Amino acid sequence: MKWIIYTLLFTSCSGLEKAQQAKIRKANEVKDPIVRLSNERYFASTMPRKKEREKYPWEERYVGSFTKITKESFRCRGSSSHLERKVLNSDGLEEILVDCEGLGSHSLPVKEGEEFIYETLIKLLNHVQGINHKRVIITSGYRCPIHNRFCNHTKANASSKHQIGAEVDFYVEGMENEPETVISQLISFYKEDEKSYQQFQKSIKEKNGIEYPIWSNKEISIRINHYKISNDLDNAFSHPYITIDLKFDRQGEEKVEYSWQKANNGYMRY
Ligand SMILES: [Zn+2]
Repeated sequence: MKWIIYTLLFTSCSGLEKAQQAKIRKANEVKDPIVRLSNERYFASTMPRKKEREKYPWEERYVGSFTKITKESFRCRGSSSHLERKVLNSDGLEEILVDCEGLGSHSLPVKEGEEFIYETLIKLLNHVQGINHKRVIITSGYRCPIHNRFCNHTKANASSKHQIGAEVDFYVEGMENEPETVISQLISFYKEDEKSYQQFQKSIKEKNGIEYPIWSNKEISIRINHYKISNDLDNAFSHPYITIDLKFDRQGEEKVEYSWQKANNGYMRY
């Protein structure tokens, strides 16, 4: 019985308190009238939109309506599903080549603890994609030494700079047979650049009776590869492609040269 009385007492007290509080709140309410101008519209016809801030260059996901080229676009094209190849090596002996296991088995080249590809190559390809609004197709970016040999086992290719992130093969979709136009666009990248990189020289080289041009400045050399003289598995298609070879690293201010050490110890294996 006692407990019932206590409970009733408590509930009624709390009810009273609430009513009292509501009364005080009501008395304290400040009613501030909204002043509107006579010509002001009460309701906006469209909802105000949040203004998007401009993106920083490194946040842009697209260049020329296609995905921006990043170091990810350069990953090794090797794959364990590629059939082994029987070839004759430089000593005239038969050798069986097996490809690397590709993407999941190793990294890009590593510099100061991070995967990297020389920035100039990435910038040049985005420049071309931005001008043409056509996709740049990288056919061969980084190659680990195993995939490099699997692609092309010739002695000349053993020191390819694909193995150190300083060389790229590509073409522009829809402009496969206009490599010279693409070359002029690559050269245009340097037009407003520091004077030391503007000067290009053109020379003609020859391989297996086929002539091909090379353009070079202090930083890069660019060549058009004729598919008839290419014996490279990454580039096994029937139209020309372009190779950019980085000769000088402007960030590090040093020549970019292949070394066995850099190629073989410069990446992580998983
Ligand atoms: Zn590989």
